[in-house]
Amino acid sequence: PGVPGDGPARRRLGVMGGTFDPIHHGHLVAASEVAALFHLDQVVFVPTGQPWQKTHEVVSPAEDRYLMTVIATASNPQFSVSRIDIDRPGKTYTIDTLRDLRNLNEDTDLFFITGADALSQILGWRDATELFSLAHFIGVTRPGHDLTDDGLPEGKVSLVEVPALAISSTDCRGRVAKGDPVWYLVPDGVVRYIDKRQLYRGQ
Ligand code: ATP
Ligand code: MG
Repeated sequence: PGVPGDGPARRRLGVMGGTFDPIHHGHLVAASEVAALFHLDQVVFVPTGQPWQKTHEVVSPAEDRYLMTVIATASNPQFSVSRIDIDRPGKTYTIDTLRDLRNLNEDTDLFFITGADALSQILGWRDATELFSLAHFIGVTRPGHDLTDDGLPEGKVSLVEVPALAISSTDCRGRVAKGDPVWYLVPDGVVRYIDKRQLYRGQ
């Protein structure tokens, strides 16, 4: 019988939740950078079902957001996509995402990757204490969002700087609506998928 801490290394799984409407290179760079810095084995991208923060906005069909995420991540052997949030009825709460992933993955440490803008809201979420017990939280910089660890629970959250990418999905949608290019802001296959499905026209 082994001594605690003497067994095989636990798997390290990054969790990148998002609306991904559409997924862009900011998401991909953040996931790649965190995977390297934190020696993650895999990063799973989890497109939201109906995001509770965005009920006032029109969000593209979950299936389109899921497929764009698959297209964007398919070439990276470290990246995968999970349907758990889009297949769960009702609004998406991160606590449910992490509980489900915890139950699906034994002997795995979860690392929840989030932009600094989203991280600053986490403390206001209900179940914040349980959230921090389910995963280590990694807040990544985003241009225009300053990082401080004021008020964050000690040892539960890491803040990291990733190469600054001033890309947002909101900006990508606005560009498509105006007829401006999104080449090189999102992966080539995502540009083609947006065009094929006529997403973000007339918004
Ligand atoms: P929207 O503009 O519609 O809010 P978004 O670009 O913020 O979209 P989300 O799907 O809301 O994209 O983001 C998913 C996660 O990725 C969030 O934690 C967000 O903070 C983070 N994120 C988004 N864009 C970047 C970026 N350019 N650099 C680092 N993190 C990012
Ligand atoms: Mg956002």
